[in-house]
Amino acid sequence: MKSIKGTKIFERSEIKEAANLLQQGKLVAFPTETVYGLGANALDEAAVRSIFTAKGRPADNPLIVHIAKQEELKSLVKGELTEDVKRLISNFWPGPLTIVLSKNAKVPAVTTGGLETIAVRMPQHPVALELIEATQLSIAAPSANLSGKPSPTLVKHVIDDLAGKVDGILAGGQTGIGVESTVVDLSQVKPVLLRPGGVTYEELTDILGKVEIDPTVEAKLSNDDQQAISPGMKYKHYSPQAEVILVEGRTEEIPTKIKELIGAHSAQKVGVMATKEFSNYYQDVTVKEMGSRSNLAEISTNIFKLLREFDAEGIDEIIVEGLPVEGLGLAIMNRLRKSAAYQIIEV
Ligand code: AMP
Ligand code: MG
Repeated sequence: MKSIKGTKIFERSEIKEAANLLQQGKLVAFPTETVYGLGANALDEAAVRSIFTAKGRPADNPLIVHIAKQEELKSLVKGELTEDVKRLISNFWPGPLTIVLSKNAKVPAVTTGGLETIAVRMPQHPVALELIEATQLSIAAPSANLSGKPSPTLVKHVIDDLAGKVDGILAGGQTGIGVESTVVDLSQVKPVLLRPGGVTYEELTDILGKVEIDPTVEAKLSNDDQQAISPGMKYKHYSPQAEVILVEGRTEEIPTKIKELIGAHSAQKVGVMATKEFSNYYQDVTVKEMGSRSNLAEISTNIFKLLREFDAEGIDEIIVEGLPVEGLGLAIMNRLRKSAAYQIIEV
């Protein structure tokens, strides 16, 4: 096992060692099918507190608790599981769906950012499941990046952000989905989508019928302008060093508008995050392909990685092609709008 700035880097064959650290109240980052997570024992107040310190995360931004077996959900929440909850679990767990329910007294307030509700998910990634199972604990794990930065989809991103700040990092390949889990609140009478993610809105309504969408999901306005704020959604998010401008609206008009913007920013180092369909159209700038418009799963895998790559290349201004907000497009556009800090140009 190697070590960087005092942080142990574990290979898959060393899951037991990583699990031991978690059992001792230490912090270990690990791959999931969405993004890398930074884990600690969810019921150990001091351990959970150190997650917030390592990430620089505001204390009122609640964490998602990860479990390795569906049955563990009952040990974290208050009361019986409703039919809706049971249906969600049987359809989407293990997988990128986080369910918010009333928490029970065992769960410390630090874990839930002071809320009476708890967010729980069972991840699908074999390494995540094996690690959590080996700890025999429930593991609180936000994304394993410094607060405000794009989420980590490669172990390199975790090392760049957290080496020297956490006890261990369990290495794995690139995460599959690339955007975080869908968060749905079932603690009230009506289900509410708080964050779009790997499970689409359409898939949720197939199971639950009507699902309300929290106003922050569309994320077109700065949160100061919004009435309802779901916890954690009011902070700066997914922001590279560079400034990000998002161009969205009628697909055919996006490339022309971007060309115009490239001209207007000619004094700066400009990068374009383009789809495969239009990537040849932009000249004299750094162009990075997100993937094909007909393959949103490919695009979601790549967006955070590309934002970090532009930073590494010293780009000042990243102009991003918008996508339709259907299927996975809702989650992708939610992240892109936030990383653009609401600098959105509609065409
Ligand atoms: P992260 O793990 O960094 O992707 O952030 C987890 C997100 O899950 C938070 O920012 C919240 O938006 C959401 N979340 C976690 N717990 C709750 C909760 N109890 N109620 C509502 N949203 C939650
Ligand atoms: Mg995060």
